[in-house]
Amino acid sequence: MEKNDIIIIHGTDYKEMAKKVLEQAGVAEEIGDRKKKVALKPNLVVAKDPSSGATTHRELLEGTLEYLRDHGFENVAIMEGSWVGDNTQSAFSAAGYREIAKKYGAELVDLQRDSFHPHDARGMEICLCDRAAEVDYMINMPVLKGHCQTTVTCALKNNKGVIPNKEKRRFHTMGLHKPIAHLNTIARNDFILVDNICGDLDFEEGGNPVVMNRVLGFKDPVLCDSYVCDCMGYSVDDVPYIRMAERLGVGSTDTEHANFIYLNEDKAGKSRFRMTHRVQGLAKYTDAKDACSACYGSLIYALDRLNDMGELRGKKTPVCIGQGYKGQTGEIGVGQCTCGFKKSLKGCPPKAIDMVRFLEEEWS
Ligand code: SF4
Repeated sequence: MEKNDIIIIHGTDYKEMAKKVLEQAGVAEEIGDRKKKVALKPNLVVAKDPSSGATTHRELLEGTLEYLRDHGFENVAIMEGSWVGDNTQSAFSAAGYREIAKKYGAELVDLQRDSFHPHDARGMEICLCDRAAEVDYMINMPVLKGHCQTTVTCALKNNKGVIPNKEKRRFHTMGLHKPIAHLNTIARNDFILVDNICGDLDFEEGGNPVVMNRVLGFKDPVLCDSYVCDCMGYSVDDVPYIRMAERLGVGSTDTEHANFIYLNEDKAGKSRFRMTHRVQGLAKYTDAKDACSACYGSLIYALDRLNDMGELRGKKTPVCIGQGYKGQTGEIGVGQCTCGFKKSLKGCPPKAIDMVRFLEEEWS
């Protein structure tokens, strides 16, 4: 897999989707020696079920553990340190990780209880948990979601879980962005398997999941977080740590020259998730007919941005979206399926950032 590749798979069989992304990326071949220490670093910021939009789905861990077992890897651990206000042991239970760790013989490592040492992170001294520092190959497994302080959170910020609590507190006193960028010069990001199943609109701790039903694969954490900005309707400049990490040599923000590898097509289907009041409030500005999950989720993120900008006030004509509009005419729609409309945004699916720009212009 190349550093500018972005692997995308849609669906609801999350375990199989994770395995297919890892196969496509050739992770086993890249790790090489089967005796190497491999770790999975999910996002268990809080003790909540993944359906809340806060934590990594257990099915992704299950798919990854099965993939590694089938390729002969035996030294595999799941490691995480929850945020300062929560307990990692409770988070392991709430997310259902204990059962899968037992099933696949993977050790659960609570990094909140680990020893740690300082490391030079390109001009900033940062303490890293010792067990995380020992790993030969780290599979970072963040949730693509919003964050009330840093706007978005995904690969780069997920590595806050490999530092001790005292360091997490210090990061907050330093405004988060600069230390997160420096942290990623020492924390491993060998492969990034992103849970883009139902990440939250704008809170790290979940509560308003937006269904996308996707799993993504990256080699570059900066490219990953830049793409996340596109997906959620933000500019990379809205999240300062992304460009800071790029300047430190961690990766590239150039999503324009990324190589997208689609493993299947998105399909319209019934969602198993219930919309919260907040998401329902945004959904009333849409008129969906057989919309694919990622397309509809992108529109919800775009409407949330427009709501923040005060652009939704007084808007009466809903935005049409979905395969049910193919060959039809109408007022305003997003996505290739609405190309017969008076005003329509191209793309299949269009990115949320493009939806924001299109709707802002058409409505003004
Ligand atoms: S444009 Fe139509 S087919 Fe393409 S992702 Fe959106 S709803 Fe699906």
